[in-house]
Amino acid sequence: MKENRKPKTKPYRSTLDNALWSFREILREAPVCFLLLALEVPLNVCLSYTEVYLPSLAVAEVTAGASLRHMALRVGLVIGLMLAASVLRTFCQHLSETYYLSLYSFLKNVEADRKSMTCFFQDYESKDVRDLSDRAAMATQLWNGVRPVSDVPRRSMKLIENVLSYLLFGSIISYVSPLLVPILTIAPLVNWLCARAYRNWEYAHRDKWTDIDRRLWYVQGETADFGAGKDIRIYGMAGWLGQVYSDLCARRSFWNRQLVWRSFLSRIADLFVILLRDGAAYALLIKMTLQGELTVDRFLLYFSAISMFASFIGNIMAEWSGIHSTSLALCDYRQYLDLPEQDGTGEADAGDCLHGALEIAFEHVSFRYKGAEADTLTDLDLTIKPGEKVALVGLNGAGKSTLVKLLCGLYLPTEGDIKIGGVSFRKFRRDDYYRLFSPVFQDVQTGFFSLAETVSGQIGDGTDFARARQCMQLAGLGEKLSSLPQGIHTRLDKQLYPDAIELSGGEAQKLMLARALYKDAPILVLDEPTAALDPIAENQIYLQYQKMTRGKTSLFISHRLASTQFCDRVLYLKDGRIAEEGTHQELIALGGEYANLYEKQSCWYKCEGNH
Ligand code: ADP
Repeated sequence: MKENRKPKTKPYRSTLDNALWSFREILREAPVCFLLLALEVPLNVCLSYTEVYLPSLAVAEVTAGASLRHMALRVGLVIGLMLAASVLRTFCQHLSETYYLSLYSFLKNVEADRKSMTCFFQDYESKDVRDLSDRAAMATQLWNGVRPVSDVPRRSMKLIENVLSYLLFGSIISYVSPLLVPILTIAPLVNWLCARAYRNWEYAHRDKWTDIDRRLWYVQGETADFGAGKDIRIYGMAGWLGQVYSDLCARRSFWNRQLVWRSFLSRIADLFVILLRDGAAYALLIKMTLQGELTVDRFLLYFSAISMFASFIGNIMAEWSGIHSTSLALCDYRQYLDLPEQDGTGEADAGDCLHGALEIAFEHVSFRYKGAEADTLTDLDLTIKPGEKVALVGLNGAGKSTLVKLLCGLYLPTEGDIKIGGVSFRKFRRDDYYRLFSPVFQDVQTGFFSLAETVSGQIGDGTDFARARQCMQLAGLGEKLSSLPQGIHTRLDKQLYPDAIELSGGEAQKLMLARALYKDAPILVLDEPTAALDPIAENQIYLQYQKMTRGKTSLFISHRLASTQFCDRVLYLKDGRIAEEGTHQELIALGGEYANLYEKQSCWYKCEGNH
């Protein structure tokens, strides 16, 4: 497997830029945390110094023959100061941890999750953006006790602390020999260069395993999913999924081995250099003491100072490396947040269009999926009059759902324009544009809120309960509602709430319909709204259809062609074009593909399935 060749990739942002960004975030979201981190710096420097100074002081007192009282007083004073500084440092550490968590949760939940929920849907569907989103999610997770997204300020403070200690201890050591400081300093540069080479290799290759990780998560999710559990058992998919999983694990292991091997090499170089550096320094100290150039207490002071000094240099490198690798993870996070939004100009205001039915006009609209060889919709020219009820029918893959997504602003036409009430969709800000639509999509997601919250899309007191009940009744959930002890306040996810209920597929679809009615937008879009309903419920929805669509323009996608009779006009879509158009009766009279399809479908009902 020769997967490891990769051109050099320049990080999205420099380390300095990411560090400044991180400081801006902490100062804005958790300034107290910043102050506490900053306070830890002088405390740690003082504690390091007293740690080295204390044994030397004690030995100096003993060798000078000081009285016990004098010795206890001086040593006791230093110990007391150390104790007070330690207590204050522990207090700062614990308190800053809580503030740090709030900064982290802001960056993760507010910023990254908001982006996932609001970025342009068409972008979010694309593989590149999903990869980026997954990598940004990794930057918000805990790795080896570090959350990259919020870790730069903490590491920067540690860096400053170690630089200050380095200067303090460097000036102490320079009394022994001025040459010691540069020698002790230069040696670890080798370590740093090795670690840096390792990190850059990891960054340049990370997209190799992002894809594998996402597939692994997907397969893991499938195996744990209740919904998929039935199919997995009955269709004997366990072995197949297991095989897919182990193939993916094998590919992931290849990259893990590459990472571990490179990390090992960099660590060995590290140890080798440390041995050389410290060995030489200690040999010099011993020689000077034997020659009588150093007293015992000075030897002790310099000996401890040198070993501490080496650790400061190591820490400076480690913190700098940490900042660098955290910065690389931040690059993914920030690149995801910076993803350009496909937004309209904002010249038009949806608020002006909310009262009364609207005209929908597709003007020479074509759409092609990224990477596809042909258009899914081709040169579509279509006008739906204000208040008109249009049925959109066609075989699977004809492009009906794609048309709905284009209309609702989830996709951008490759060519042409879509006008609502005579105004191009490009003139509305995207979130404003969404206000014009009440869609019911095929894939039903009810979430874990109460019935009322689900219908109104509001939590707390924002719901108009009377209206929510009315919409649920209109959508055919009246009986269900009265059978529930907690009524409209019943919660929906049994896995989260013991007293919650599980809705059947049909009931969930009705609930989505109720939500669309509650929103009361001028355009109602129903994509197979009765697919999961039993014939009685379906019939009830058709009977209520006129009431539901009063004062609205509506688009109704259905495979049950009988339902189109409730619509003013039927569009028969084929290969991304409107192949036939007219009322149900007109299309039957035309005797084309629609009539043929209708004939076949109604025959199944009439002939009791004898065909
Ligand atoms: P319908 O709703 O009429 O069944 P769709 O609009 O879902 O049809 O799909 C139309 C065509 O577009 C199909 O050939 C389908 O494979 C393709 N298609 C749908 N979604 C995507 C997507 N996200 N990426 C690429 N092709 C897609």
